[in-house]
Amino acid sequence: MIPGARLVLLGRQGAGKGTQCVRLSRHYVVPHISTGDMLRAAVKEATAFGQKAKEYMDAGDLLPDDIIIGIVNERLERDDTKKRGYILDGFPRTLAQAVALIDITHRRPIDLVIDLDVPREVVLERLAGRRVCQDCGTNYSVAQRPRREWTCDFCGGDVIQRADDTEEAINRRLDLYERETRPLIEFFAARDELETVDGLGPPDEVLARLVRAVDAELQRRHK
Ligand code: AMP
Repeated sequence: MIPGARLVLLGRQGAGKGTQCVRLSRHYVVPHISTGDMLRAAVKEATAFGQKAKEYMDAGDLLPDDIIIGIVNERLERDDTKKRGYILDGFPRTLAQAVALIDITHRRPIDLVIDLDVPREVVLERLAGRRVCQDCGTNYSVAQRPRREWTCDFCGGDVIQRADDTEEAINRRLDLYERETRPLIEFFAARDELETVDGLGPPDEVLARLVRAVDAELQRRHK
């Protein structure tokens, strides 16, 4: 039987985290929990919270820690995460979020935090060309378009450029990553929970590297 896993994927936006998280979640049969996707769903539903979240997102800012921690805490309370695990994508992004995550998961600790490593120049180029299905979240790019012009191959939804993928907002998010999120790499490394995986190369190869890293850790833990 394929083992479950409790995983966190860190890395610059545009490192291919979203795509790899979807594939890892299929591989280990665990839910993919993306805070960005949850926030975009709230924006789409046009709730008061969604409208507030949109302001932060469009500006390339982070939402306040207490709000996002509350959302993740609630999500990890659900039964589907308790049995086999989960993959967290886009959380934690600050030291306060990381500390909160350790507290939230103290009964069932994270198996592994992975830093999916892709250099800044590479992600900048990728993000500027990124396109995404606004219904199912499948990623495309100007180089890898859907078969029919900007209609999702999988669900028929509209494939668009995210409102927060302008060059100015991208640079702002990358600066924010260096300042707020990169310190988490040291934080989790000091806890002996971190593995760095090279995110460059064909997506299938990157996935294989990720699976090797996770399997090695699961084996080490369950020996
Ligand atoms: P993402 O799809 O992960 O790039 O997230 C899109 C946007 O949602 C980010 O630029 C932030 O504005 C917001 N967001 C997502 N996750 C978090 C988080 N953990 N903390 C604060 N803001 C977040």
